[in-house]
Amino acid sequence: MKIAVFSTKSYDQEYFEKYSKDVSNSFSFFETALTSDTANLTIGFDVVCVFVNDNVDKNTIEILSKNGVKLIVLRCAGFNNVDVEAAKNKHIKVVRVPAYSPEAVSEHAVALILTLNRKTHKAYNRVREGNFSLKNLIGFNLKGKTIGVIGTGQIGKTFCQIMIGFGCKIIAFDVLQSEELIALGVRYLPVHEVFKQSDILSLHCPLNSNTKHIINKTSIAQMKEGVMIINTSRGALINTFDVIQGLSNKKIGYLGIDVYEQEENLFFEDFSERIIPDDLLLRLNSFPNVLITSHQAFFTKEAMAEITTTTLDNIKAFEKNQELVNEVK
Ligand code: NAD
Repeated sequence: MKIAVFSTKSYDQEYFEKYSKDVSNSFSFFETALTSDTANLTIGFDVVCVFVNDNVDKNTIEILSKNGVKLIVLRCAGFNNVDVEAAKNKHIKVVRVPAYSPEAVSEHAVALILTLNRKTHKAYNRVREGNFSLKNLIGFNLKGKTIGVIGTGQIGKTFCQIMIGFGCKIIAFDVLQSEELIALGVRYLPVHEVFKQSDILSLHCPLNSNTKHIINKTSIAQMKEGVMIINTSRGALINTFDVIQGLSNKKIGYLGIDVYEQEENLFFEDFSERIIPDDLLLRLNSFPNVLITSHQAFFTKEAMAEITTTTLDNIKAFEKNQELVNEVK
């Protein structure tokens, strides 16, 4: 099969080449994202392989269908960037990597919490410059704090387990409750109670019409003064404008984000010698209590290996007409 891999970085190609040695498929790697403007690159390909910021909307799918593409392979868990209904109408199957390393993402969420709290990023720079002062570096103990978790699936669950290890009290909201977590002491509450009681709020639900802008003016108003908000899930769970207001009036004490609503034209690229064309992101970056990473929570050796092997298995199953266990329906 001929496979067009979009949004390819050197590390993606490295992992595909490492794990696809025995596979008879031919891969073409494109640096560009898949959008309706680039979809004509797929002429002659059977399969497209895409990542979080490729825009596989209805228009893109029309072109993929005309070009004979039969399978869309996501090398990620979230599928909010694919119009699954449009693909179904064109008889194009969609597969994903449902769980590659929940630990990679949950551990990154914890890294954001610890860095924001204990300010190790600032201490590092200070000490490198010979400044050994502790002024403004004061943090708080995690033990005994209330952590609110929105979404207790694969990632949310491992996040809860880590935070229980710190001695935190965990409250959660999910449309489905995990008996395993309840047995560990996690208390499920209505979402507004989770907003109200949390010292730290961490988002681990998918982006869909129910969760878009779940963090907004109204929910922020329900939160504790000085709350820490962590988002390693999807950017549009947060209304950026409302969060900027919350930071400005000090209702939000800390914000740690690995994802951003308008990330697709920025993240994964080097803008260090360019003007950043996003005033909201620049405003966010101006707050001393905001920490932004560019969608790197997934990026561990273990996760990359798992993503690549599951992606190759998904393609192999399609080629052999076997059941698509990771199909998005
Ligand atoms: P999952 O499907 O295992 O868990 C999602 C949970 O959210 C489920 O328990 C589901 O019931 C719950 N949920 C659904 N709708 C909800 C709602 N309205 N309110 C509250 N909870 C709701 O998914 P996962 O593997 O844990 O991944 C979670 C999200 O993390 C993904 O959707 C993806 O967007 C994001 N993610 C980010 C990265 C990264 O690198 N930053 C990597 C992987 C995944």
